[in-house]
This record gives sequence, C-alpha cells and structure tokens, in this order.
Amino acid sequence: MASLDQYSLCPCGNGKKIKFCKCHEHLPEMQDIYRMISGEQNVAALDRINANLKTMPSEPWLLAMKCDLLLRLGELESLEETSAKFIRLQPDNPLAKLHRAMVAIVRGNTEEGASLLLQSIADSGETIHPMTAMVGMNLIEFIGQRGSILPALLHAETLLDLGQPMQQVGMSAYQSIVSDAQSSSLLRESIPSPVDPGDAPYAERLDEASSLIEAIRISGAKTKLESMIREFGPQPAILQALLHCQLILTDGESAAATCRKLTQCPDLPEHQKVYYQSLAFDLSPQSSGISLKDDLVVYTIEDPEFESKLATVKSLQPVPVDQLKEMLQMMLQEEVPPKVAYVCTDAVLQEQFAESEPLRVGTWIAFYGKQTDKPARLVALEANSGYQKKQIDSIKSDLGLNSVKRELIEQLHLPFVQRISSQVMIRQQIPDERRLALSDAIKHLNTEEALDIPLECLGNQSMREVAGKAEYRVALQAVLLSWQARNPSGFTDADFDAIHKRLQVSEPKLSPELDVFDLVGGAAYYWTDLANIDPQSLIQLMQSSLTRGIASMYQPLIDRAQSTQWPEELRGSAEYTLHNLKVRVCSDPNEAEKLLARIIESGKKLNVSIGSAIIERFELLSMLGRHGEARVFMENAVRENSSDPTLMRYIQSLMQQSEMAARGNSGLGGQSSAGNIADAGGANSSGIWTPDGPSGSSPDSAGGGSKLWVPD
Ligand SMILES: [Zn+2]
Repeated sequence: MASLDQYSLCPCGNGKKIKFCKCHEHLPEMQDIYRMISGEQNVAALDRINANLKTMPSEPWLLAMKCDLLLRLGELESLEETSAKFIRLQPDNPLAKLHRAMVAIVRGNTEEGASLLLQSIADSGETIHPMTAMVGMNLIEFIGQRGSILPALLHAETLLDLGQPMQQVGMSAYQSIVSDAQSSSLLRESIPSPVDPGDAPYAERLDEASSLIEAIRISGAKTKLESMIREFGPQPAILQALLHCQLILTDGESAAATCRKLTQCPDLPEHQKVYYQSLAFDLSPQSSGISLKDDLVVYTIEDPEFESKLATVKSLQPVPVDQLKEMLQMMLQEEVPPKVAYVCTDAVLQEQFAESEPLRVGTWIAFYGKQTDKPARLVALEANSGYQKKQIDSIKSDLGLNSVKRELIEQLHLPFVQRISSQVMIRQQIPDERRLALSDAIKHLNTEEALDIPLECLGNQSMREVAGKAEYRVALQAVLLSWQARNPSGFTDADFDAIHKRLQVSEPKLSPELDVFDLVGGAAYYWTDLANIDPQSLIQLMQSSLTRGIASMYQPLIDRAQSTQWPEELRGSAEYTLHNLKVRVCSDPNEAEKLLARIIESGKKLNVSIGSAIIERFELLSMLGRHGEARVFMENAVRENSSDPTLMRYIQSLMQQSEMAARGNSGLGGQSSAGNIADAGGANSSGIWTPDGPSGSSPDSAGGGSKLWVPD
C-alpha cells in the first residue's frame, strides 16, 4: 500500500500535490488518518477527523476525507450534510462536486448528478480526480437501469475521452451498454453531429456553444443554445446541439421535445425527420404518443365457486405466483401475494401448436382469496386495444365478470413496441420441423396486431388506417423504424420491407458515399443502400453492427459481403470481420469452433486484439468435450498473447475461481464478468458501485482508483 507523502495529490481534491497545497502543514496528521483508513480502521479514522474538525471546522482536506469515509461506510445522511458544507466552503473544488454528484445520483436526481459530474471534469483540467470513475459508473448504471441508454452511452464516451485510468472504466461501461440487446439500436448509436449552419447569422454563437460542449461546460452551452432559440427560432443546427446537452444532462423529456421540434423543421431532409421522431418515441413514449394505456383493475368477487371457474377457462394459463409477486407488490403496495395467477394464452397458437404451450404474455389475472380485512378480489391488467383487448374481453365474458363492478386502480403506459415485440413465450422445446411454422405464426400474429392498434402519434388511428396518407408519412415511418430498431425476435429486414410495402411507404435509401451514421445515427443500419455500397463503407457498417450488437443486420451484411469483390488492401480485414459476423449467427458449435480458429488466425495478421475470440474458442472446445486440445490451445495462446488485457483478465478470474473452488466456495460469483456493470453494482449491498468493491471486478483500477488520494 502506497503511503501519503508530500508528492501525493492533496486529499482536499484541488488537484495540487500536497507540497504545493495550502494544506501542506497538516501532512503528519493526514498521514496518521490515511494509515488508519488503509488499515480498515474506518470508525477510528472518522473519530479522529471529527475531533480535528472541532478545532479546524473548515479545512477542506478534513471535509474531503470525511466525505470519503462516510461514502465507504454507506452513511448517506451524514454524507449529504458534510458534502453540502464542503461545497459551500469550496464551491470550485472538483472533489466537492463529485461528492455532491454522488449524493444526487443515489437520491435519484440524475440531472443534478450529471451536471455536477461534468462540471467537476471540466474544472479538473489535466488531473481528473480518481473518484470521477466511481461517480461516472454509478451514474451510468443508475440511468442505464432506467432505460436512459443514450445518455448512459454519452457518459461512457465522456469517460473514454479522459485517458487512463478513466478509459478502462469507460470502456467496460460502454461495452455493457451497447451489448444490451433489449434496447433500441437507435439508442445504442451516438446522435448525428449538428448540420453545418454555413453563414447563418447565428453561426458564430453556435461555434461558441460547440466550444463549450467540447470543454464539457454543458450547462453553460445549454443556456446559450436556449437563448439562441428564443432569438432565432427553432433552427435545426441549434436544436441538434441542444439535444446533445439535454441527453448528457439525462433530461429525457426535454430531449424528446427537442426531437419533436426537429421533426417539424421544414429544411431538414425527410430521413432525418423520421430519425428524430423515432428517437422521440424511444426517449419518451408517453409524451410522444406511442404508448398504450392498459387498465389495472380490480373486481370484488362474491361467487364462492370463482376460483374453480378460473381453472376451467381455456385461454388462461396458470403461472407460479412468485413470477408476478414482485410486480404486484409494487403496483398494489400490499404484502399479501395472490392465491393464484394466470396469463392469457393465445387461442390461435394454442390450437395449432398445443405441444409448445405458446403464451401471449402482457395481459394477466391474479386472484386474491378472501382475507380477514378484505373480500375476495380479482386484479387484472386489461389491454385497451388490439388483439389483447379482444382476448381479455372474451375471458371476462367466460368468467361472467361483465356484471361485476369494475374499479380502475391505475392506467399503465406501455410503449407500443414493447407490447408487440415480446408477447410470445415458449415453455417447451419445439421440434425442429415445427419451429419455422411457429415463428411464422407468431410473426403473422404480431404484425396483424401491430397494424391494428390505434396510436396517438397517428391521430388515434392505426398504421393500417393511415397507410398512404401523406400527412402521416413521417410519423408512420418513424413508428416502423422504432419497431425495427427494437429488433423483435424473428423479424428480418425482408419482413420489414414487406410491412413497408403493405403500408405504402418506402424506407429512405441512403447513399453510402455520405457519412450515413453522421446523418441519421443508428437508423443507418436499416437505410443504407446495401445493393450499391462500396467495399470500404460495407466494412464500416459490418464492424459497427458488431460492436453495437445489431443482430438483425448480421445476415444481410454477411450475404452482401460474400458477394463483394474485395480489393487486395481490404481483403484481410474483410475476412476477419465476415467471420466475426458468421460466428454470431452460427448455431452449430463445431462450425463456430472452426470460424473462431480462422478469426484468431486473421486477427493475428491484422494485429488486432484476439483475446475474446481465444476465450470463446477455449470455452467451445471445453464444451465439446475436447479438453486436452482446449488446454494446449489456451497454454499456447497465453504464451503468445501475454499482453492482451481481455485474455489476462480471463485467466485471472479462472484462477480466482479455482482458488475459490479449492476453498469449497465455488458457488460465489463464479460467473461475474468484468464488463458487466450490474455485476459490479450487485457486489456492494448499498447498490453503490465502488472501484474497490469486494467483487474485484476490475483489477486494473486497483492502483489508481481504489483508494482515494493514491497517485498512480
Ligand atoms: Zn489541499
């Protein structure tokens, strides 16, 4: 453990070395306290700090050390108080801002947290405080869990730009965000750069605002841009820069409103309007009119036979109460779980695919028997539109519920794409020969339902109803893009082409010579004209789809790449990228193993990091029972690639696992992966991610970020 000397960064957090800081006369006392903390005598250290604060109530280094200790001890109330005092006495101190940001994030105020974190980074200049990584990770994890994927991505990119050691943290956050296949691919891609304002009267001021954004003075830039909009009206270039600020400040509602204004800009090309409208849907489904309102209702049941009646309804499928318990507790704020619970199964699918018990989840029923203080009740989630409405209506009539008093508990908003993409759950293995037929049936059902649901953003009409109407063209294209970008299982590009045709809208076709990602962000995956793409752009698109996990694009890109005549200078990277795509769609482990061997070979020639391919091949060989071969392969690979960080981390965790297994502890954390934010967060009971959390998830941070004030 390094000690604290006069060349260490001063604990007060102003970025100076102790020797050159006002605090230097207190070095011996600092060292004493530091030794206590290093020896895990946290409570004793806190007592010593408090005793010191009695005589020196406004010494910044004491306040800073106290904040850090309180954070370690999870004493949030006291941290809130001490950090408030710290920042009041030192309003420009980056560390004081970091502590305030931490408090705000834990309290759920991400806008304040993001703003303080960014200010702290901007104020720090060259020497970023090590605690920045921890605050950044907490913010990213917190907003990521709440579905703010794009803001989380922008914060990960900010950390990435800060150099080591923040880069490492930023990288693992970034990988975790882009690998979230559930999120919309529009949110996994950075927003396009603002259009060039040319010699517009506001060009110079926009330049100033852009410089502020570059210097991470986001709040200042935002104020400037807002006043420009008041003066010059909703100009696309100003709105686009403002959108960036709102996103990174985690203000999703305002960002969605800005997107909607961009959609109204007459000079913006139509494909960009579609993109921004679709982004607005993703950022705020409710305010953008693409959410569905389902009713959470309760019926008071007097019929003593009701419970047995439930069991006879054909389209109700019993589910373990445990599956709904948590959700019900949250919705109803009561402790007692229901007696029985059902989800509504699909009659059509049940008829054709009885052996697979396919369910359409979303609409469910929970029956609470008579309790001492309450009569018997039925709580149900009732869809108000589409196929699920028909379904629940028929179940209600089977149960005779139409003559029972219906009380609305709450209207729940569900994003449209969420309902149509995840309705079918397969409970048993489907025989191969029936799988294709089942996936077709599900596709058909989902498509017909989607086309029939009335949506506020289409003037309360369904997609089918607005087909061919010019005034709804942009909104309709945006709904389709939003749907496609969520990548529902089983839908291919060809399926979406067919849906576009049925609705008489054509997808925008982007010429690949333009920098398409810069024009339309993630929409480029679907709109780039693959038929006429040049080899260089094709490789870019292939690599980007891999890093962002755009699974629905893999097959079309593979097909295109295989029919491309690659120029000599691109052949190596084309082959490497193509094999990477192929292994993603490959379902045969023997085939995948061969592809991985070729990826490793071509990766070596290109001098790119092949650590993850080595790990994958090793695991596949072991899975296939070829243990001897796997061991020899790994031993050679480690010898040849001893500087590959991914591979070394893997080896380290393998060693830890076998150590734990030796200690009879193998159940603990065996699967934790370094890149997973949720894992890292789960390691600490308070939900606060700290670089020195017990999971040891990031060995690299042990030197720089783990204990504060230890310069690398
Ligand atoms: Zn100092």
